[in-house]
Amino acid sequence: VRWSTADDGSDGLFPVTELFDGEHGSAAMSRLEFFPVLAHRVLNRMPKQSPAPFRWTINAYRGCSHACTYCFARPTHEYLDLNAGTDFDTKIIVKINAVEVLRRELADPRWTREGVAMGTNTDPYQRAEAKFRLTRGIIAALVEADTPFSILTKSPLVTRDLDLIAPAAEHLDVSVSFSIGTLDERVWRGSEPGTPHPRRRVEAMRACAEAGVRTGALVAPILPGLSDRREQIDETVAAIIAAGGRVIGSTPLYLRGATREHFLGWLREFDAELHARYLEAYAGRTRLPPEYAQWVRAAVHSAITRAEKSARARTPGHRN
Ligand code: SF4
Repeated sequence: VRWSTADDGSDGLFPVTELFDGEHGSAAMSRLEFFPVLAHRVLNRMPKQSPAPFRWTINAYRGCSHACTYCFARPTHEYLDLNAGTDFDTKIIVKINAVEVLRRELADPRWTREGVAMGTNTDPYQRAEAKFRLTRGIIAALVEADTPFSILTKSPLVTRDLDLIAPAAEHLDVSVSFSIGTLDERVWRGSEPGTPHPRRRVEAMRACAEAGVRTGALVAPILPGLSDRREQIDETVAAIIAAGGRVIGSTPLYLRGATREHFLGWLREFDAELHARYLEAYAGRTRLPPEYAQWVRAAVHSAITRAEKSARARTPGHRN
């Protein structure tokens, strides 16, 4: 079975307007296709050797309409005989029975209620979620099973579910984090063409903080020559902290396999001169030398220090 959207107002099962919740980047995303599948398992255990701070993950969707040029999940579409480029952005696999399978897994007496992370592979609040509401069902099931969870997203659609998330945060370890690599308009439109505007993510973060939910942002990936100027980093970090979030990390761009090919193909069109510099800088390596990552960490750290200082200065009654 294949479900499609229609951009011509005619015979698509889902009117495309239902999948747009406001301004997105530049991608021509009007023709999404959904491939419903039945999952046997939904809870995915991380390998023992994984350094990730969570043991379990859930990804209800494969492929991601947010279409970030640098997305490291792109190669996973190749296992499905789909390509890691446009297919990844527009052909979305939907685990249509995810909520009922999860309920079954959580009811297993051996379930130990360890934390579950969402958004580790594809975005749980990508456009499909506006229609299928699987993430919402998953959250409800986790809360009923007293299971802590974390969410990482680029979409303000997560605020739709604050009615479930905020009460859960009163008694469970719950967090909602946003991925905000830059607020630079041109870089955002080019590199994350299917995502909501990063300032809308900042506002969503504020809504989470105001609802009492622990929130923050991953300032990543930092794109060399595109989003790594100090004033760009300062602006992004200051907005996050002013919205009540904390910066939970930052990493520079990592390029490998099909993602490398896709990103460099995009960059060639976006900025031919920078593309030539990337070919040289990333020749035979997946990331820039460690000194660059150290520079990024230091730049983010000093941006945090400045932003926190000015946040304190704005606090009524504050004296230096
Ligand atoms: S939002 Fe995340 S999963 Fe989706 S395309 Fe962007 S980086 Fe990939």
